[in-house]
Amino acid sequence: MIVCPSCGAESIHAEKGCAQCGFVPTRVDGFLAWAPDLAKHNDGFHTESFEGLARVEAGNFWFRARNAIIIWALRKYFPAFRSLLEVGCGTGFVLSGIAQAFPGKRIAGSEIYTAGLAFATQRLPTVELVQMDARKLPYVTEFDVVAAFDVIEHILEDELVLQNFHRAIKPGGGCLITVPQHQWLWSPVDEEACHRRRYSARELHAKVQAAGFRIVRSTSFVTLLLPLMLASRLAARRSGTSGGSEALQLNPVVDRVLDAIMRMEHLVIKTGVSLPVGGSRLVVLQKIPAA
Ligand SMILES: [Zn+2]
Repeated sequence: MIVCPSCGAESIHAEKGCAQCGFVPTRVDGFLAWAPDLAKHNDGFHTESFEGLARVEAGNFWFRARNAIIIWALRKYFPAFRSLLEVGCGTGFVLSGIAQAFPGKRIAGSEIYTAGLAFATQRLPTVELVQMDARKLPYVTEFDVVAAFDVIEHILEDELVLQNFHRAIKPGGGCLITVPQHQWLWSPVDEEACHRRRYSARELHAKVQAAGFRIVRSTSFVTLLLPLMLASRLAARRSGTSGGSEALQLNPVVDRVLDAIMRMEHLVIKTGVSLPVGGSRLVVLQKIPAA
């Protein structure tokens, strides 16, 4: 169900809008836009980064490893899911991996920046892609799984966003989230990425539980490469620069070595070991129905 973001009327039409107050989602760059004022500019991300990301994602071990762990977690924890919304789908790299791994499911993506959706639609020509503000998500019990991969750290009102995820999920469904972890890894890379925070497990757990979720699984990842990551973040702190998307463009040999390390780590996580430290954290959440 879609609720009118303007007046709160229930079951409004996804394209025709609200019969009660007249709210109609407009179109920006061809995409249905629910928060058109924020489609081009807001303080969550530098839109010029999308092009660099779209170019490097497939050739960078980190993005591939994250896709692998996400797809594994979906299969393991939500084997019967029929619909999934990825909030903050960016260039669609994760969503296209999910769409390939789960043919026949309803897969949807939302993104506040139409600049991201322009890349996503090339990768996912048949997938529902909409421009939306996660803080004003209009869905109520609409999807089996709502997912957000390295998104909520960009948003000041992350607790509100988690409540919106909870509302958007069907009874029995759940949520899959990844975030950057450990404030002590903070560097110009985070500033360049418009991060508001890196999470501790404690902060993330408290916030998801307050939003009405039960934690089914929580583990760090990018653990084996943490020393390397720390060294590169310290170097970034010393130089005061992030290196931009060129820093994500790796020598293919280096990329293969790092890829192999991430695969080993993934094997460990699959055995059920939850890693205490790591550059990122994955949480698998089940919706507890609101009382
Ligand atoms: Zn309305």
